[in-house]
Amino acid sequence: MIPGKIAVEEHWTSPDYVRYMPAIGLRSKVQDGAVQALQDLSGRLEEMDRHGIAVAVLMLNSHGIQGEPDRDRAVAGARQANDLLGEAISAHPDRFVALAAVAMQAPQAAAEELERAVRELRFRGACVNGFCDVGDHETGRYYEERAFDPFWERLQELGVPLYLHPRSPLPRNLGLYEGHLELVGPTWAWGVETATHALRLITGGVFDRFPGVNVVLGHLGETLPFAVDRMEKRLTYMSDLGLERPVGAYFRENFYVSTSGNFHTQSLLGSIAELGAERVLFAVDYPFEQMATASDWFDAVPLAPADREKIARTNAARLFAIDSG
Ligand code: ZN
Repeated sequence: MIPGKIAVEEHWTSPDYVRYMPAIGLRSKVQDGAVQALQDLSGRLEEMDRHGIAVAVLMLNSHGIQGEPDRDRAVAGARQANDLLGEAISAHPDRFVALAAVAMQAPQAAAEELERAVRELRFRGACVNGFCDVGDHETGRYYEERAFDPFWERLQELGVPLYLHPRSPLPRNLGLYEGHLELVGPTWAWGVETATHALRLITGGVFDRFPGVNVVLGHLGETLPFAVDRMEKRLTYMSDLGLERPVGAYFRENFYVSTSGNFHTQSLLGSIAELGAERVLFAVDYPFEQMATASDWFDAVPLAPADREKIARTNAARLFAIDSG
């Protein structure tokens, strides 16, 4: 067993936020026990010990605050969620760290709550579960718009990362999956949704305006390590977007990917080849994946010892300011 791992996409919720959990495609076995497991931090400590996970980076489970269409309720809900999570982890500050929930429905308030969470609660960044609902569940906003610049600016100033976690697509975009509910949810639709959001951030110029920002993608980059080269070439042939760097350069310089829910050696090696071992992070995606599955795979995966150490621990320690001993 590789001891001292830091797992960076680990989910948490409390009773007030369970209603934001999405109905995802076909009912899955994993969902059934998840609500209880999401709320239980002491039980998961024992499981972490069994599998060599020293620290878990916790975040409010999807869709979280992004699923609240009312702006004022979203702002208040983010603050309350962060206070609750801060309280929940306070007994074990050496085992749990947290990413802040932020109400992107109100970008200035999101910036302020990020700063409060980082400075007062010692959170290590923020997590958003995709676009945010605005006004109703049929309308979403993506974060490359200039209106979100106050948030990106604050993130850059504070030097903390944003975890861009998946969510379900807008209802009007589900036509693609008609007759195939099995593809809606984490099987496929979430990855497409999240990869597209990440590309919108790139082509929308977020990283030209805020070159110091780091975004973390789960699931070994939501397919982007395989797709980014083609994207870059076709864009070059097609148009001049006025970007300062090739698309692949943003991916390699402003993004990290984690192994959450994607314990596949070929995909890991491909991600390392595309991004470098410095930008890959170990994660489980608990409780939707089991710590045993993630750890048994990662601990045995064929990697150079120096790369394994980076992915297991030191990259995450640096990015999330964790003292990993
Ligand atoms: Zn997840």
